[in-house]
Amino acid sequence: MSKVRLGPDGVHIFDRDSGTNVLLDEIVPPRDRWTFSPRQVSIALTNACDLECTHCYASKIPARLDVESVKQWMLELDGAGCFGVGFGGGEPMLYPKIQELCQFGSAHTNLAITMTSHGHRLSVPLVEALKSSVNFLRISMDGVHQTYEKIRGRSFLSLLEKLSLIKGQIPFGINYVVNESTIVDLMRAAEIAEEFQAKELLLLPEAAHGRGNAVTQQTLTQLSDWIGSYRGSLQLSISSAHSELVRNQPPLPSESEEIAFAHIDANGILKRCSFDSDGQIISDKGVVHAFNKLIEERESA
Ligand code: SF4
Repeated sequence: MSKVRLGPDGVHIFDRDSGTNVLLDEIVPPRDRWTFSPRQVSIALTNACDLECTHCYASKIPARLDVESVKQWMLELDGAGCFGVGFGGGEPMLYPKIQELCQFGSAHTNLAITMTSHGHRLSVPLVEALKSSVNFLRISMDGVHQTYEKIRGRSFLSLLEKLSLIKGQIPFGINYVVNESTIVDLMRAAEIAEEFQAKELLLLPEAAHGRGNAVTQQTLTQLSDWIGSYRGSLQLSISSAHSELVRNQPPLPSESEEIAFAHIDANGILKRCSFDSDGQIISDKGVVHAFNKLIEERESA
């Protein structure tokens, strides 16, 4: 079933099954009818991860969300007009109730259920369990062969075996951290992604967070040139900090990021984004209450 958000740019309609976004900008609803919830919420289910990537910024302090709380937040967000949740971490496939959560979200809400994973825990039974409830998987693949193995500490061939498990089973895209090491592999990575029937290549120029170093201007120039010359079948997307580099991204309303996105960390703190250090604890009053407090706090700062 399609979902609708009302806002300053018009009426935004989204369908989780097809991934279709339609913006009707001839109709601008009155301000008191605008949807006031984040459009998309990323949820770090756990800080646990079995990799040690060189650019990782995720917290290493052990923490894990309570499954019943996450279900409650999903119901609340769905009712408030949110379009989707993205499970992450840490590694979300290490979260013991991951299948239960995805199935709950699919059966009891109209939220699009997405997940970002390193992919190495995928197996035939797990793919079978997730394919009816996960709308889109995001698999991290920075560089190919030795570049990938140096960053992720795992065999690239074993990643390709995992991609073959989801090929044609679960719609997926590749998340690609762009830095001086990975930029040279971009064309080959895109070819491999196409071979495995990925739909999207999300380009993530490395940011100066955690162990990560900010991408250099020279690499950004190379990236811009590559994007300009790319003629393959993948939808190219890029992190919002560099949105000017990719034209023809799917049309979305120009809601300010503070309204469009929110992040819940593995301690149950709602933040503007995963890079932020502070936010609002989600109390018994719920996730939308915490979101309103976050917005109020930002506006008064
Ligand atoms: S897979 Fe993700 S969470 Fe795990 S170490 Fe790598 S970047 Fe960090």
